Amino acid sequence: MSKILVIGAGGVSSVAVHKMAQLIAAGNATFGEIVLASRTLSKCEAIAESVKQRTGVAITTAQIDADDVPAMTALIEQKKPDLVVNLALPYQDLPIMDACLATGTDYLDTANYEPRDEAKFEYKWQWDYHDRFKEAGIMALLGSGFDPGVTSVFTCWLKKHHFDRIDTLDILDCNGGDHGQHFATNFNPEINIREVTANSRHWENGQWVEGPPLTQKQEFDFEAVGPKNMYLMYHEEIESLKTHLPEIQRIRFWMTFGDAYLTHLAVLQNVGMTRIDPVMYEGREIIPLQFLKAVLPEPASLGETTKGNTNIGVIATGVKDGVEKTLYVKNICSHEAAYEETGNQGVSYTTGVPAMIGAAMKLSGQWQGKGVFNMEEFDPDPFMEMLNQHGLPWTVEELEAPLAF
Ligand code: NDP
Repeated sequence: MSKILVIGAGGVSSVAVHKMAQLIAAGNATFGEIVLASRTLSKCEAIAESVKQRTGVAITTAQIDADDVPAMTALIEQKKPDLVVNLALPYQDLPIMDACLATGTDYLDTANYEPRDEAKFEYKWQWDYHDRFKEAGIMALLGSGFDPGVTSVFTCWLKKHHFDRIDTLDILDCNGGDHGQHFATNFNPEINIREVTANSRHWENGQWVEGPPLTQKQEFDFEAVGPKNMYLMYHEEIESLKTHLPEIQRIRFWMTFGDAYLTHLAVLQNVGMTRIDPVMYEGREIIPLQFLKAVLPEPASLGETTKGNTNIGVIATGVKDGVEKTLYVKNICSHEAAYEETGNQGVSYTTGVPAMIGAAMKLSGQWQGKGVFNMEEFDPDPFMEMLNQHGLPWTVEELEAPLAF
């Protein structure tokens, strides 16, 4: 039985830890012991309390600043986990990978590294660790959330079972939930706003096509949500998908936003509140976006009030036996059901469950390797099976025609 060290105690971590504990309670041999460590110990203790109440499983907690590589290394040496699951923020990816290298421990995360002073998403920094992880005989699994994560698994599953070749891929992410707040983000506000305000970028005919943020819009009728405006955005799985499935001519990522969200965001941008460079305030430097995060609701606090569904999937057009076809694989997740089961809203749920499944893939030996890997590099079948069993069931349907846009 394996020991897991989970870093971070936000919404995603809470879901992942509840799901791992459910497996322990059910006598599944994959997960044996869970240690939860984060910057704020009280948040770890609150999750541990909820896990105990809901599943009867006791987990241990610890305080850690994961940016501090020696402290992180010492924690891993003390706890001796089989796998470190990084559910803190993208800034912590490299320090935690350094500590894993120093201790010879496997690593998993759900979001690619970002430097604090530049809103830039690139796998380069983490892919650069490949040779060192390989030499150390350990594995890093990158991006085991929903998007990135399940979206790549969906794509590989389509390729494996339904296509000889995929030509175009559209990833559609719709959060049809309403949290009742004027403005809030459904995962870490700082990371979320950096992502949403970045230039759009998609992959087409062997090159990146870039445009201003949130300008290309399409209406799409999402099952269990209804018609929504979705916007072309950059998202990190485009980089790993175009690398691992180079046959795909065009890869785009779309995310839905309501008009009220966009209006608030435009105002915040216009007044400078989304800036990530330091400004002087009363004699000290502050980063406006970090201050904004401090006054916005914590995503983990939105669970109780959020109603509605998320609907995230991929639409692929390609060829099988000489015939063109278009398939749509998706999951619909209810915010209310996610909250009832784990005390967290659907966006945390759709990320935390795949983080648990990624950990199970590694610990059970179904996904194995030495080095740094993305989700597309492994067999999608056991992951797809666990999605169905652990709260994120998916459907596949054939569309009459490729997307008209
Ligand atoms: P939260 O902000 O709710 O939680 C982040 C947690 O990390 C907090 O508990 C925070 O501690 C902790 N943390 C931050 N800095 C450090 C540090 N230096 N050392 C130790 N702990 C630290 O975020 P979410 O739970 O919403 O998101 C977690 C991760 O999941 C993010 O990386 C996000 O980008 C990713 N994500 C991925 C998705 C996907 O589909 N792939 C979708 C949604 C999110 P404190 O409370 O003290 O600030």
